[in-house]
Amino acid sequence: MVINKTGKIIEDLYMLGHPAIPIYLLDGDRPAIFDAGISCLGEIYAAEIKKVLGQRKPGYCFLTHSHFDHCGAVSALKNNFPSLQVISSSKARKILARPNAIALIRELNHSAGLSLKELGIEFHASANFEPFEIDDTVGNGEVIKPAKGFTVCAFETPGQTWDCLSYFIPEKKVLFSSEAGGQPDLTGYIFSECLADCDEYHQSMKLLGRLDFDVICLGHLFVYTGQDSRKYMRDSIAEHGNFRKLVETSLIEENWDIDRVKKRIKAFEYDSNPGPKQIESAYLLNLEARIKAVQNQMAKTPNSTIQIQKMH
Ligand SMILES: [Zn+2]
Repeated sequence: MVINKTGKIIEDLYMLGHPAIPIYLLDGDRPAIFDAGISCLGEIYAAEIKKVLGQRKPGYCFLTHSHFDHCGAVSALKNNFPSLQVISSSKARKILARPNAIALIRELNHSAGLSLKELGIEFHASANFEPFEIDDTVGNGEVIKPAKGFTVCAFETPGQTWDCLSYFIPEKKVLFSSEAGGQPDLTGYIFSECLADCDEYHQSMKLLGRLDFDVICLGHLFVYTGQDSRKYMRDSIAEHGNFRKLVETSLIEENWDIDRVKKRIKAFEYDSNPGPKQIESAYLLNLEARIKAVQNQMAKTPNSTIQIQKMH
Protein backbone atom coordinates (compact mmCIF):
# COMPACT_ATOMS: atom_id res chain seq x y z
CA MET A 1 0.00 0.00 0.00
CA VAL A 2 1.10 3.57 -0.69
CA ILE A 3 0.17 5.96 2.13
CA ASN A 4 0.25 9.73 1.68
CA LYS A 5 -1.80 10.94 4.63
CA THR A 6 -1.34 11.33 8.33
CA GLY A 7 -2.86 8.90 10.83
CA LYS A 8 -2.44 5.25 11.72
CA ILE A 9 -0.24 3.23 9.36
CA ILE A 10 -0.23 -0.14 11.09
CA GLU A 11 -0.94 -1.11 14.71
CA ASP A 12 1.06 1.26 16.98
CA LEU A 13 2.63 3.24 14.12
CA TYR A 14 1.44 6.73 13.13
CA MET A 15 2.40 9.46 10.66
CA LEU A 16 1.71 12.83 12.32
CA GLY A 17 1.78 16.52 11.39
CA HIS A 18 1.59 16.83 7.62
CA PRO A 19 2.72 14.28 4.98
CA ALA A 20 5.08 16.90 3.48
CA ILE A 21 6.96 17.22 6.79
CA PRO A 22 5.87 14.36 9.00
CA ILE A 23 7.08 12.87 12.22
CA TYR A 24 6.45 9.24 13.09
CA LEU A 25 5.22 7.86 16.40
CA LEU A 26 5.75 4.26 17.44
CA ASP A 27 3.60 3.37 20.43
CA GLY A 28 4.65 0.94 23.14
CA ASP A 29 5.12 0.98 26.90
CA ARG A 30 7.65 3.77 26.20
CA PRO A 31 6.59 5.35 22.90
CA ALA A 32 9.22 6.69 20.51
CA ILE A 33 9.16 9.51 17.97
CA PHE A 34 11.22 9.35 14.78
CA ASP A 35 12.39 12.73 13.48
CA ALA A 36 11.17 16.13 14.55
CA GLY A 37 10.02 17.98 11.43
CA ILE A 38 9.96 21.77 11.27
CA SER A 39 9.64 24.35 14.01
CA CYS A 40 6.32 25.92 13.02
CA LEU A 41 4.56 22.53 13.17
CA GLY A 42 5.96 21.77 16.64
CA GLU A 43 2.75 22.40 18.59
CA ILE A 44 0.74 20.50 15.98
CA TYR A 45 3.02 17.45 16.29
CA ALA A 46 2.76 17.67 20.10
CA ALA A 47 -1.05 17.95 20.03
CA GLU A 48 -1.33 14.94 17.71
CA ILE A 49 1.03 12.88 19.90
CA LYS A 50 -1.17 13.74 22.91
CA LYS A 51 -4.26 12.71 20.95
CA VAL A 52 -2.76 9.25 20.38
CA LEU A 53 -1.07 8.76 23.75
CA GLY A 54 -3.52 10.51 26.10
CA GLN A 55 -1.78 10.92 29.47
CA ARG A 56 1.21 8.80 28.45
CA LYS A 57 4.39 10.50 27.20
CA PRO A 58 6.88 9.62 24.46
CA GLY A 59 10.22 8.51 25.94
CA TYR A 60 12.56 8.98 22.98
CA CYS A 61 13.00 11.07 19.88
CA PHE A 62 15.32 9.43 17.35
CA LEU A 63 16.72 11.94 14.83
CA THR A 64 17.80 10.70 11.41
CA HIS A 65 19.97 13.72 10.52
CA SER A 66 20.55 17.38 11.26
CA HIS A 67 18.72 18.95 8.30
CA PHE A 68 16.39 21.78 9.36
CA ASP A 69 13.24 19.88 8.36
CA HIS A 70 14.07 16.85 10.51
CA CYS A 71 15.09 18.46 13.80
CA GLY A 72 13.13 21.74 13.70
CA ALA A 73 10.57 20.95 16.39
CA VAL A 74 12.79 19.20 18.97
CA SER A 75 12.60 22.12 21.41
CA ALA A 76 8.78 22.30 21.11
CA LEU A 77 8.55 18.55 21.72
CA LYS A 78 10.89 18.83 24.73
CA ASN A 79 8.76 21.66 26.13
CA ASN A 80 5.68 19.49 25.83
CA PHE A 81 7.37 16.30 27.02
CA PRO A 82 10.25 17.34 29.34
CA SER A 83 11.51 13.78 29.94
CA LEU A 84 11.97 13.16 26.19
CA GLN A 85 15.43 11.73 25.43
CA VAL A 86 16.78 12.95 22.09
CA ILE A 87 19.07 10.54 20.24
CA SER A 88 21.16 11.16 17.11
CA SER A 89 24.42 10.15 15.47
CA SER A 90 27.58 11.68 16.99
CA LYS A 91 28.15 13.52 13.69
CA ALA A 92 24.71 15.15 13.94
CA ARG A 93 25.37 16.09 17.57
CA LYS A 94 28.59 17.89 16.53
CA ILE A 95 26.77 19.76 13.74
CA LEU A 96 23.92 20.78 16.04
CA ALA A 97 26.40 22.32 18.48
CA ARG A 98 27.81 24.74 15.87
CA PRO A 99 26.49 28.32 16.00
CA ASN A 100 26.63 28.68 12.19
CA ALA A 101 24.59 25.46 11.74
CA ILE A 102 22.03 26.68 14.28
CA ALA A 103 21.75 30.03 12.46
CA LEU A 104 21.18 28.24 9.13
CA ILE A 105 18.63 25.81 10.61
CA ARG A 106 16.77 28.77 12.16
CA GLU A 107 16.75 30.69 8.87
CA LEU A 108 15.58 27.68 6.83
CA ASN A 109 12.82 26.92 9.33
CA HIS A 110 11.66 30.51 9.04
CA SER A 111 11.53 30.30 5.21
CA ALA A 112 9.79 26.92 5.39
CA GLY A 113 7.04 28.55 7.47
CA LEU A 114 6.48 31.10 4.71
CA SER A 115 6.16 28.39 2.05
CA LEU A 116 3.69 26.42 4.23
CA LYS A 117 1.55 29.55 4.25
CA GLU A 118 1.49 29.49 0.44
CA LEU A 119 0.46 25.82 0.50
CA GLY A 120 -2.34 26.58 2.95
CA ILE A 121 -0.96 24.28 5.65
CA GLU A 122 -1.94 25.14 9.22
CA PHE A 123 1.11 26.17 11.30
CA HIS A 124 2.34 28.43 14.12
CA ALA A 125 4.11 31.34 12.46
CA SER A 126 5.71 32.59 15.68
CA ALA A 127 7.51 29.31 16.45
CA ASN A 128 11.21 29.82 15.80
CA PHE A 129 13.86 27.14 15.85
CA GLU A 130 15.51 26.86 19.26
CA PRO A 131 18.76 24.97 19.85
CA PHE A 132 18.55 21.85 22.00
CA GLU A 133 20.74 19.23 23.65
CA ILE A 134 21.23 15.75 22.21
CA ASP A 135 20.88 13.42 25.21
CA ASP A 136 22.64 10.43 23.71
CA THR A 137 24.22 9.22 20.49
CA VAL A 138 24.04 5.87 18.69
CA GLY A 139 26.37 4.39 16.10
CA ASN A 140 26.26 1.89 13.28
CA GLY A 141 24.70 -1.44 14.28
CA GLU A 142 23.79 -0.28 17.78
CA VAL A 143 20.59 -1.65 19.22
CA ILE A 144 18.45 0.22 21.76
CA LYS A 145 15.53 -1.28 23.62
CA PRO A 146 13.36 1.69 24.52
CA ALA A 147 10.18 -0.30 25.16
CA LYS A 148 9.07 -3.86 25.88
CA GLY A 149 7.55 -4.47 22.46
CA PHE A 150 10.33 -3.26 20.18
CA THR A 151 14.03 -2.66 19.66
CA VAL A 152 15.55 0.11 17.55
CA CYS A 153 18.54 -0.83 15.37
CA ALA A 154 20.54 2.14 14.09
CA PHE A 155 22.38 2.04 10.77
CA GLU A 156 24.69 4.70 9.43
CA THR A 157 23.38 5.55 5.97
CA PRO A 158 25.56 8.36 4.59
CA GLY A 159 25.20 9.76 1.08
CA GLN A 160 22.49 12.39 1.33
CA THR A 161 24.29 13.77 4.39
CA TRP A 162 27.31 12.46 6.30
CA ASP A 163 25.44 12.33 9.61
CA CYS A 164 22.44 10.22 8.63
CA LEU A 165 21.10 7.27 10.60
CA SER A 166 18.25 5.03 9.50
CA TYR A 167 16.34 3.11 12.16
CA PHE A 168 14.97 -0.39 11.81
CA ILE A 169 12.45 -2.02 14.16
CA PRO A 170 12.80 -5.79 13.55
CA GLU A 171 9.78 -6.85 15.67
CA LYS A 172 7.49 -4.70 13.53
CA LYS A 173 9.50 -4.88 10.28
CA VAL A 174 9.40 -1.08 10.11
CA LEU A 175 12.18 0.98 8.55
CA PHE A 176 12.62 4.73 9.06
CA SER A 177 14.93 5.44 6.15
CA SER A 178 14.57 9.21 5.90
CA GLU A 179 16.05 10.50 2.62
CA ALA A 180 18.80 7.87 2.69
CA GLY A 181 16.33 5.71 0.75
CA GLY A 182 15.58 8.39 -1.87
CA GLN A 183 12.65 10.77 -1.97
CA PRO A 184 9.72 10.59 -4.41
CA ASP A 185 7.67 13.63 -5.36
CA LEU A 186 3.90 13.49 -5.78
CA THR A 187 4.23 12.29 -9.40
CA GLY A 188 6.13 9.22 -8.15
CA TYR A 189 9.50 10.32 -9.58
CA ILE A 190 12.17 9.31 -7.04
CA PHE A 191 14.82 11.96 -6.49
CA SER A 192 18.27 10.56 -6.09
CA GLU A 193 19.39 12.33 -2.91
CA CYS A 194 23.14 11.85 -3.33
CA LEU A 195 23.99 15.33 -2.04
CA ALA A 196 27.11 14.36 -0.08
CA ASP A 197 28.49 11.31 -1.88
CA CYS A 198 27.24 9.28 -4.79
CA ASP A 199 28.75 5.89 -3.99
CA GLU A 200 28.03 6.10 -0.24
CA TYR A 201 24.43 6.88 -1.15
CA HIS A 202 24.24 3.79 -3.36
CA GLN A 203 25.86 1.60 -0.68
CA SER A 204 23.45 2.91 1.97
CA MET A 205 20.46 2.07 -0.21
CA LYS A 206 21.82 -1.42 -0.82
CA LEU A 207 22.21 -1.88 2.93
CA LEU A 208 18.62 -0.72 3.53
CA GLY A 209 17.40 -3.01 0.75
CA ARG A 210 18.87 -6.03 2.58
CA LEU A 211 16.84 -5.37 5.76
CA ASP A 212 13.72 -7.45 6.28
CA PHE A 213 11.22 -4.57 6.34
CA ASP A 214 7.56 -4.61 5.45
CA VAL A 215 6.92 -0.90 6.06
CA ILE A 216 9.21 1.92 4.92
CA CYS A 217 8.62 5.41 6.35
CA LEU A 218 10.28 8.03 4.15
CA GLY A 219 11.55 11.46 5.13
CA HIS A 220 8.63 13.14 3.37
CA LEU A 221 5.25 12.44 1.79
CA PHE A 222 5.06 8.65 1.67
CA VAL A 223 4.95 5.42 3.63
CA TYR A 224 4.96 2.16 1.67
CA THR A 225 3.78 -1.13 3.10
CA GLY A 226 3.87 -4.78 1.97
CA GLN A 227 5.01 -5.47 -1.60
CA ASP A 228 5.01 -1.73 -2.32
CA SER A 229 7.74 -1.19 0.29
CA ARG A 230 10.06 -3.72 -1.41
CA LYS A 231 9.20 -2.35 -4.85
CA TYR A 232 9.90 1.20 -3.69
CA MET A 233 13.42 0.32 -2.57
CA ARG A 234 14.20 -1.49 -5.84
CA ASP A 235 12.83 1.45 -7.85
CA SER A 236 14.82 3.94 -5.79
CA ILE A 237 18.08 2.07 -6.42
CA ALA A 238 17.27 1.86 -10.15
CA GLU A 239 16.34 5.55 -10.27
CA HIS A 240 19.69 6.43 -8.72
CA GLY A 241 21.42 4.51 -11.52
CA ASN A 242 19.34 6.42 -14.09
CA PHE A 243 20.14 9.77 -12.49
CA ARG A 244 23.82 8.96 -12.42
CA LYS A 245 23.81 8.01 -16.10
CA LEU A 246 21.86 11.13 -17.03
CA VAL A 247 24.35 13.38 -15.20
CA GLU A 248 27.37 11.55 -16.65
CA THR A 249 26.06 11.85 -20.20
CA SER A 250 25.02 15.48 -19.69
CA LEU A 251 28.44 16.42 -18.30
CA ILE A 252 30.16 14.97 -21.34
CA GLU A 253 27.71 16.42 -23.85
CA GLU A 254 27.71 19.83 -22.19
CA ASN A 255 31.52 19.85 -21.98
CA TRP A 256 31.56 19.82 -18.13
CA ASP A 257 29.62 23.07 -17.90
CA ILE A 258 27.74 22.63 -14.59
CA ASP A 259 25.26 25.43 -15.28
CA ARG A 260 24.21 23.87 -18.58
CA VAL A 261 23.95 20.44 -16.97
CA LYS A 262 21.80 21.95 -14.20
CA LYS A 263 19.47 23.46 -16.78
CA ARG A 264 19.14 20.16 -18.59
CA ILE A 265 18.40 18.08 -15.48
CA LYS A 266 16.05 20.72 -14.09
CA ALA A 267 14.00 20.62 -17.31
CA PHE A 268 13.71 16.87 -16.93
CA GLU A 269 12.97 16.45 -13.23
CA TYR A 270 11.67 19.81 -11.96
CA ASP A 271 10.12 21.94 -14.73
CA SER A 272 7.98 19.05 -15.94
CA ASN A 273 6.57 18.49 -12.44
CA PRO A 274 3.24 20.33 -12.01
CA GLY A 275 3.86 20.56 -8.23
CA PRO A 276 3.55 21.19 -5.39
CA LYS A 277 7.32 21.03 -5.28
CA GLN A 278 10.37 22.24 -3.39
CA ILE A 279 11.12 25.97 -3.79
CA GLU A 280 13.30 26.54 -6.86
CA SER A 281 16.31 28.07 -5.06
CA ALA A 282 16.53 25.10 -2.67
CA TYR A 283 16.07 22.64 -5.54
CA LEU A 284 18.90 24.28 -7.53
CA LEU A 285 21.28 24.26 -4.57
CA ASN A 286 20.61 20.57 -4.00
CA LEU A 287 20.86 19.81 -7.70
CA GLU A 288 24.32 21.34 -7.92
CA ALA A 289 25.47 19.19 -4.98
CA ARG A 290 23.98 16.08 -6.61
CA ILE A 291 25.69 16.81 -9.95
CA LYS A 292 29.03 17.45 -8.22
CA ALA A 293 28.68 14.20 -6.27
CA VAL A 294 28.29 12.29 -9.56
CA GLN A 295 31.21 14.22 -11.07
CA ASN A 296 33.42 13.34 -8.08
CA GLN A 297 32.41 9.71 -8.39
CA MET A 298 33.37 9.73 -12.08
CA ALA A 299 36.78 11.14 -11.24
CA LYS A 300 37.32 8.40 -8.63
CA THR A 301 36.33 5.55 -10.95
CA PRO A 302 39.39 4.11 -12.67
CA ASN A 303 39.23 3.57 -16.45
CA SER A 304 35.78 5.09 -16.70
CA THR A 305 34.72 6.37 -20.10
CA ILE A 306 34.42 9.71 -18.39
CA GLN A 307 38.10 9.93 -17.47
CA ILE A 308 39.00 9.00 -21.05
CA GLN A 309 36.68 11.74 -22.30
CA LYS A 310 38.24 14.18 -19.88
CA MET A 311 41.74 13.51 -21.17
CA HIS A 312 40.84 14.35 -24.76
ZN1 LIG B 1 14.05 16.33 4.44
